[in-house]
Amino acid sequence: MMDSIKTSLDQFMKNKNWHSRYEKLQREVLDYSRVRAFLASHPEVKEAPAEKNINKLFEYKREREHCDACPGLAECPNIMQGYQPEISAADGLVELHYHPCRLKQKADERKRHQSLIKSLYIPQEILNATFDDIEQDHASRLSASNAALEFAIQARPGEDSIGLYFHGPFGVGKTYMMGAIANELAERRISSMIVYVPDFFREMKQSISDGSVQEKLDNVKNIDVLILDDIGAETISPWVRDDVLGVILQHRMMEKLPTLYTSNFDYEELEAHLASSQRGAVEKIDETKAKRIMERVKHLTSPVFIDGKNRRGR
Ligand code: ADP
Ligand code: MG
Repeated sequence: MMDSIKTSLDQFMKNKNWHSRYEKLQREVLDYSRVRAFLASHPEVKEAPAEKNINKLFEYKREREHCDACPGLAECPNIMQGYQPEISAADGLVELHYHPCRLKQKADERKRHQSLIKSLYIPQEILNATFDDIEQDHASRLSASNAALEFAIQARPGEDSIGLYFHGPFGVGKTYMMGAIANELAERRISSMIVYVPDFFREMKQSISDGSVQEKLDNVKNIDVLILDDIGAETISPWVRDDVLGVILQHRMMEKLPTLYTSNFDYEELEAHLASSQRGAVEKIDETKAKRIMERVKHLTSPVFIDGKNRRGR
């Protein structure tokens, strides 16, 4: 008996509290600067009975205040993380819409961007390179970065297969510049793939046993812009040269897809490398095959020599 009186009394007190709390909330909502500004320019909403709109205005205030004290996207306390409310009015009623906030938009853009750049065995610093970071401290670097930028802003995969052949000594920034190209291409929604050739060829050889050669080849063959990094540093074999490199280049030429290279070798040195196939003496057939591949490479790239100081600081 005592118990039940006590609970209904509690209930009553709660209701009373609730009522005054509700009025306080309502005052706070209507007093919130963004709501005040909104009501000032929408008198028909202001005159509508408060109950009709107060819930939406309350939600708007609560979420918007989260944004005003934004703790960053990862910590976003909003109902839908990264979404910001906007209000409008129709026939005296408040309408609430959500749209991605600036941080969310940026993060989405970055994700889209990253999904456009694929890579195999390439360090992260290269994948983050941009043209803004390239120091032009050497004449050949300046002309190389001009050629790189020109390619990045003009490339039309599927219509024009002309690429670039960056050659020069170790550590001058050839690979780095390719990273900048990949990022600029991503800005233009063009996908690219940077492949470190020695590791890629090794993986291809190992793939013979598990039957995944074709699948791996297809990935590389069809990318909009393929970047073969450090060609010439691999151990060459007739199979890799003819059935991997040769097949990739043949396909890309037919499809008018550009390929970019970096190498310590110039065209002639690379041709000699491709002809040396570990059978001891260089055989005629290897010379012929190397020549055929190099004709393709030369025909489909502009050579760019890069010199400068070794930046690997050792
Ligand atoms: P390469 O491919 O010619 O051997 P890399 O591109 O690997 O040379 O560059 C050598 C080192 O110098 C890398 O650590 C790279 O991140 C750094 N590097 C190259 N170019 C720049 C640059 N413009 N600004 C800052 N760091 C760079
Ligand atoms: Mg390199």
